[in-house]
Amino acid sequence: MPSLSHQILNNQFINNQFINNQFINNQWVASNGTRLLDVMNPYREERIAQVTAGDAADVDAAVQAAQQAQPAWQALGGAARAKYLDGFADALEARRDAIITLSATNNGKPLAEAGIDLDDAIACYRYYAGQAKALDARQGELVNVEMEGVEARTYHDPVGVVGLIAPWNFPLVTSAWKLAPALAAGCAAVLKPSEVTPLPELVLAEIALEINLPPGVLNLLNGDGEGIGAPLTNHPGVDKISFTGSNRVGEAVMQAAAARTASVSLELGGKSPILVMEDAVPAQAADWVMAGIYFNAGQICSATSRLLVHEDIAEALYAALAERMDALTLGDPIAEGTDLGPLTSAKQRDAVQCYLDIAEQEGLTAVRDAQHRQLPDTGYFLAPTLYRDVPVESRLWQEEIFGPVLCGRSVASEAEAIKLANDSVYGLAATVISGDPERAKRIGRQLKAGSIWYNSEQLVLPETGWGGFKRSGIGRELGPWGLSAYLEVKHVVGPK
Ligand code: NAD
Repeated sequence: MPSLSHQILNNQFINNQFINNQFINNQWVASNGTRLLDVMNPYREERIAQVTAGDAADVDAAVQAAQQAQPAWQALGGAARAKYLDGFADALEARRDAIITLSATNNGKPLAEAGIDLDDAIACYRYYAGQAKALDARQGELVNVEMEGVEARTYHDPVGVVGLIAPWNFPLVTSAWKLAPALAAGCAAVLKPSEVTPLPELVLAEIALEINLPPGVLNLLNGDGEGIGAPLTNHPGVDKISFTGSNRVGEAVMQAAAARTASVSLELGGKSPILVMEDAVPAQAADWVMAGIYFNAGQICSATSRLLVHEDIAEALYAALAERMDALTLGDPIAEGTDLGPLTSAKQRDAVQCYLDIAEQEGLTAVRDAQHRQLPDTGYFLAPTLYRDVPVESRLWQEEIFGPVLCGRSVASEAEAIKLANDSVYGLAATVISGDPERAKRIGRQLKAGSIWYNSEQLVLPETGWGGFKRSGIGRELGPWGLSAYLEVKHVVGPK
């Protein structure tokens, strides 16, 4: 058990159970709920903690605390709020080793990947500290109006109390992308981490106390969808819901919000393509293809899980990929040298296994199949797999698998690659690899997705927006768009 978990809640962690695991009004309090949820180490297949599932009474208390805190938090102004955001960044940095170990233990991601996540979260808090400061200067800007004798000014008010719901694949990152802009905008928040990976985010509450964040500005509730998620999305005191997760739940969140015309932002699934053109260098392209699908064991919303390779270099690319797949070390996430950890939960491992079974039933051609290598003795592991010439009708080609499964098809032309890349209900991300960067950029402009990477992979920057076309979601996180998601535009207009 990593020592940080003890630090988080001091003496409240007894016999693997967090006794007081709801953080409301800057106090750790016992949940009203009685159901207990297991928090697992997916490598050891051992329970490392239990949290209570929470219930509607917890949500009520947290929303009330946020409602009381919100006016003063708004009145504080952007520059003062920025200090707290920098405080989050500094405090995360100060806990670097402990947080990385905790993420690796609870998520099953290798240490190096947990480090990248932490850097991403820290960069996000710092970026929105800057945005909060800049917001002050934007308040009351004059609007150029045609009508004579009239003055119009623009203000940006926080939307109010926000409910932030996070998934389990990148807990610290997905919560930072919501919490940092929400706090920068002047919103008070109720954050619900995933019940699968609540441990990394518990640190945020500990930090809130350390940096003297005003009580009620950040409330953190442990629990599942039934206990916390649904009551939060239905609560009349919540002005906006920002949700990251599956399409199935995202649709339910949108319906709940629609019932009271509340605003929603949704970051949902993906089935992103990677296009490798005939002028690419196969060895270099293979490195990017690998990074796009086997990072975090493929549990990435923006995983480039559909490979479209020009037929002229298909054989060379598949050979380079096979070589790299064989060189991957599967093992303990906290051991140095591990490339691929287990999937984060037994449930997710089983869900991905269903697709591997379908691949077998459909007789798909495997470059590396699910049985090609021995798996570690413990852990929710699946072998990294690569299928080629996958029919477009196959469920493996069309559906988000969320695991280390890559599906490839050869294409005869650039036009065919673009057409197939866009032939998806999703549109979160896409990658283009070409020896000619200008060509790669030109192809990228024709793809329907929110993030296009050329000659790179998963290059996520706090300054550029994040979000999807089509069923991948509604709205954008990160960049100035991420801040706007928590702001209402107001105009004050009258005679000069
Ligand atoms: P999920 O939808 O099962 O759960 C997400 C969150 O919603 C969890 O906190 C869960 O407890 C909560 N929840 C469950 N039922 C709820 C309900 N009825 N009302 C409100 N909240 C409820 O998703 P997951 O399995 O945690 O995450 C995987 C999914 O997330 C994948 O589809 C992936 O593509 C997506 N994802 C998207 C992005 C993005 O930026 N677009 C990023 C990460 C993950």
